[in-house]
Amino acid sequence: MLLPADYHMHTPLCRHAVGEPTEYAAHALRVGLREIGFTDHSPMRRDDFDDWRMRADQLDEYVAKVQQARRDHPQLTIKLSLEVDYLPGHEDWIRELAARHPWDYLIGSVHYVSDAFDLDNPAKLSEWKKRDAFEVWSVYFERLTMAAESRLFEIIGHADLPKKFKFYPDRDCTPMFTQFLRAAKRSDVAIELNTAGLRKDCREIYPSPAIVRLAHAEGVPITFGSDAHAPGEVGMDFAAAIQLARDTGYTHACQFKQRVRTMVAF
Ligand code: ZN
Ligand code: FE
Ligand code: FE
Ligand code: ZN
Repeated sequence: MLLPADYHMHTPLCRHAVGEPTEYAAHALRVGLREIGFTDHSPMRRDDFDDWRMRADQLDEYVAKVQQARRDHPQLTIKLSLEVDYLPGHEDWIRELAARHPWDYLIGSVHYVSDAFDLDNPAKLSEWKKRDAFEVWSVYFERLTMAAESRLFEIIGHADLPKKFKFYPDRDCTPMFTQFLRAAKRSDVAIELNTAGLRKDCREIYPSPAIVRLAHAEGVPITFGSDAHAPGEVGMDFAAAIQLARDTGYTHACQFKQRVRTMVAF
């Protein structure tokens, strides 16, 4: 089996991951990957926005660490990218970030449903308990649709992240999933099958099989990502993700080089 590229992994610069990029690369080779991409949490314009990302003055250090991994592992293709937080109003900052380096692709992720509520942060469980799950999911998918429509990104990250702590809405969300996926299709942006969900309370790949089925029906392309925050997580549960992709009809995944897409069979 030819493994698809693992296009989502972090570095210690984000302050909640361990292991140097060269160790992630070494593990990738051990599990049979031929291509990976680093996507650490991008800086915000204000370094005090939160405490789980690199500072703006660390971008060069990030690039240097990835370049070191490339030198150490010439047999592995290593792409250089960012996982960028999408918040409405941050578009100019995201364009500035995009211009700072010839990134291979950008993952756009929604973690914030307001400036103070990053819904996947374990420190914010009290916020979840104050709110109606359907309202949170609605705001999340509204922002995810805006992220897709912004054309700032090649890939939208973990498209149903609000399920992480199992706060599920009591109403059918199919209309908001479809609205997001149609925006993704129109804007030519891929979604990722992110295996980190299997390691969270929800115990399910992001996004759910129902959303992956809708994505295939709408013609939205995919990538694969482990969202590794430690070297041993690179390529984790890719067999399950490939199975899900195949079961829903996918045969190809996207690869990117300097923001140009090609489709590769897996
Ligand atoms: Zn992270
Ligand atoms: Fe994320
Ligand atoms: Fe991530
Ligand atoms: Zn992530």
